[in-house]
Amino acid sequence: MTKGFLFDMDGTIFLEDQAIDGAIECFDYLNKKQIPYCLFTNNSSNSKSVYVKKLHKMGFDITSDKILTSGLATILYLKRRSFKNVFLMGTDSLKLEFVENGINLSDSKVDAVVLAFDKGFNYQDTVTAHKLIQAQTPFIATHPDKVCPMRDGDIPDCGAMISYFESSTGVSPEIIGKPYPIMAEMASELLNEKIENLMVIGDRLYTDIEMGIRSGAKTCLLFSGETKKIDLKNSNVEPDYCFESIKDFLVKYIQSDQKL
Ligand SMILES: [Mg+2]
Repeated sequence: MTKGFLFDMDGTIFLEDQAIDGAIECFDYLNKKQIPYCLFTNNSSNSKSVYVKKLHKMGFDITSDKILTSGLATILYLKRRSFKNVFLMGTDSLKLEFVENGINLSDSKVDAVVLAFDKGFNYQDTVTAHKLIQAQTPFIATHPDKVCPMRDGDIPDCGAMISYFESSTGVSPEIIGKPYPIMAEMASELLNEKIENLMVIGDRLYTDIEMGIRSGAKTCLLFSGETKKIDLKNSNVEPDYCFESIKDFLVKYIQSDQKL
């Protein structure tokens, strides 16, 4: 039985700056029925408030406690491991989010090195991180995406920075974001629901659906974004359910009494 939902955002509930048909109604329904859900994203360069503003502008009634960025999932993971002091390479908004959540930022005597989508990537920081990783400090990265798509072409993302440190230290980090299962595990903590009772809904087989399968959640692929039906045929990643779009999913799954 599905008791909660984890939604990807881009290609699943909106495309660029526009809500996908049926998405606003879907969240209105979940809110009304008090069905637990969260929205996840691998992007660790923005804080939750950036996403909430964007969603409100498009007409969604979604509060900030429903947003799980890979940065926030990393904070939850650090807490699970009782890591209090970290050296963080990330944006100022992510640094603030860490501090607000009780994580101390330092460059010595740290429990972990955390690498995020650091838009201020600078050489001195890389030297510090390199030395800490060489000294066997646990190395954690928020997400594996090598590039971040922008309107005028893509830009280097956290995955490219992971390669930089793998090259210099020979050490690979533990990665939190999708397709790795830790993100889904943290969502399950956030929703206070067992992972096998959750369903991951997304438009990409090799990130969203892969994460769901690896973590033991149910999975649902929507054809409103990147994946076409021919891609599914040619893939060995098999979602439990497929729907044309979130509208179809709302009517045929969420509002269907047999499933909930
Ligand atoms: Mg997507």
